[in-house]
Amino acid sequence: MEAIVGTPEVATKTAYRRCSRCVLDTTVSDIWFDEAGTCKYCQIHDEMERLHPLANMEEDLERIIRRIKKAGRNKTYDCIVGVSGGRDSIYTLFLARKMGLRPLAVYFDNGWNTEIAVSNIRKATDLLRVDLHTVMADLDEFKDLQRAFLKASVPDADIPTVYAIHSVLYETAAKQGIGYILHGHSFRTEGTSPISWTYMDGRYIKDVHRRFGSGHVRSFKIMTLPYLLYYSLVKRIREVRLLEYIDYNKKKADETLAHDLGWVYYGGYHHKNLYTKFFQSFLLPNKFNIDKRKTELSALVRSGQVTRREAIAELEASSYKYDRSVVIYAVAKLGWTLEEWEAVYFREPRSHKDFKTYLPLIRLLRLPIWVACKLRLLPHILYLKYAS
Ligand SMILES: [Zn+2]
Repeated sequence: MEAIVGTPEVATKTAYRRCSRCVLDTTVSDIWFDEAGTCKYCQIHDEMERLHPLANMEEDLERIIRRIKKAGRNKTYDCIVGVSGGRDSIYTLFLARKMGLRPLAVYFDNGWNTEIAVSNIRKATDLLRVDLHTVMADLDEFKDLQRAFLKASVPDADIPTVYAIHSVLYETAAKQGIGYILHGHSFRTEGTSPISWTYMDGRYIKDVHRRFGSGHVRSFKIMTLPYLLYYSLVKRIREVRLLEYIDYNKKKADETLAHDLGWVYYGGYHHKNLYTKFFQSFLLPNKFNIDKRKTELSALVRSGQVTRREAIAELEASSYKYDRSVVIYAVAKLGWTLEEWEAVYFREPRSHKDFKTYLPLIRLLRLPIWVACKLRLLPHILYLKYAS
């Protein structure tokens, strides 16, 4: 049972320091600060603000909507929206319909979603009159992949879900001939997850699965480089973060969704999914000394939705709270006894750098990636985050 109440054991190599503008700190191992004490992720935020200035937002939004409509003319759908039942994805769907788009909603069910999340999806798609395409994961296979990442002892052990959703969206877009995938991410409310906390690519997933998993992954395609090139260059599928074209405010979005779509808040940070809840509230803080509230609070501080003082007060008021019953539920659902879980939990923490990834290649190709980002063939955040 010790592993259910474990305490942080992560060694701090450098002296503790917190960004002078947001609340990210040296628990992010890839962080750096400029002379004014502002961190790498605040600078990424400023670059994103330059790319999506609020002053031009109406014009920019209308331009991107026109482009999506034009590409989707004479097709049943002009875009795809991945829905998880959370605020951001449902608001994206709401905004897409409000702007006159004809989206296909795609839902990837990994077997861990809460009933609230599923009900939010049903209500929203019914009321907005949007077709819903559900992709069900092979649950045994998916759990094997989740166990592989936990055994690999890396802090980004929640990426199978994020990656699978990404892959399913691309595959559906390619099959249906849809050119645009709309995301609910916004740097103003969610921030950019540090790469030392969350790293994801197809080569990494394959290597972790080969070393710690079993069988084959069939529920979704693991998008290695040839697939990525095929989708972006041949199929010309583009990703659009629609919420970055508006002054997106969490509180206002909650009110609108609750009023117009009967949307219900699930509580916590991304706790619409029980695996994410187990992972973010228990495993990350206790095993890796990672508190993901810092990413979201930092984003809200930068965009003026929360003050830095309020964010620090929230972090210092209490550590990330977890529900013991969720931890016990997750361990049992993963098919482990508590003893087996303990053996996994107490493994030495590692990082994506201990596995094969595309990161060395990305760094080698930083110049062509920069050009591709300028030409909008790739999202600019890719360069800022991985190659800069
Ligand atoms: Zn900062």
